[in-house]
Amino acid sequence: MSKHLVVFDVDSTLIEEEAIELLAEFSGTREQVAEITARAMAGEIDFGTSLVERVSLLEGLSESVLAEVAASLTPTKGAQELISLIHETDGYAAAVSGGFIQLLGPLKKQLGLDFAKANTLEVVDGKLTGKITGELVDSTVKAETLLALVHKLEIENQRTIAIGDGANDLTMMKVAGLSIAFCAKQIVRDQADVVLDVRDLSLVAAFLPNG
Ligand SMILES: [Mg+2]
Repeated sequence: MSKHLVVFDVDSTLIEEEAIELLAEFSGTREQVAEITARAMAGEIDFGTSLVERVSLLEGLSESVLAEVAASLTPTKGAQELISLIHETDGYAAAVSGGFIQLLGPLKKQLGLDFAKANTLEVVDGKLTGKITGELVDSTVKAETLLALVHKLEIENQRTIAIGDGANDLTMMKVAGLSIAFCAKQIVRDQADVVLDVRDLSLVAAFLPNG
C-alpha cells in the first residue's frame, strides 16, 4: 500500500466546539467572540484579523483555564474510529488549526494524531496576554503545512485529503488531492469535492485511498 495523509481542521470538524468560545466564556466575552468567529468562518472577514481581535478579548485569563477547556473538548463522533482506520491503511492523520496548540496538544495525544499545528497563546506570569506568539496559522499556513507534510512524508499529492468546515480551510482544501466539506459553511460546501452533512467522521472512511 502507498502511504496517504488526512489533514483535519479542528474546531467544529475534529471537535464539536469552537474552542475559542469556551475560553471566552471565562472572560465574559463569549457572545462577542462567537459573532466574530461566525463571520470569519463564513468568509465575510479576514481570518487573521478576526483571530487577533478575538484573542485580544482573552487578555488576563488565567493560564489554568487552558487545561480546563482542553479537558472539556468533545471529539466529533467517529473521529477516533477514523484515525484508527487511517493508521491501519498506512496513512497519517494530521490536525492543522487556526485555534491553539495549548488545547490541540492534549487532543493530539488523546486521539493518536501523528502531527498537530496551531497558534500559540502567549502566557506571561500565568496569564494570557491577549496575543499570539510566533507564526499566525491562517488559511495560507494551513495549506503550506499540508504541502510540507506531503514533502516530508513523501506522499503523492493525490493521496491527500483535507477536511474542514470554515473559510480558513479553503486554501488547504484546494491543494489537497480530495477536499471534504464537513457540516460546513456554504462557501466551503460550494468549493469542496465531497460534502458531508452528518456529524460522523467515520463516513470519511469511504473516501480513504486505501479504504
Ligand atoms: Mg473549523
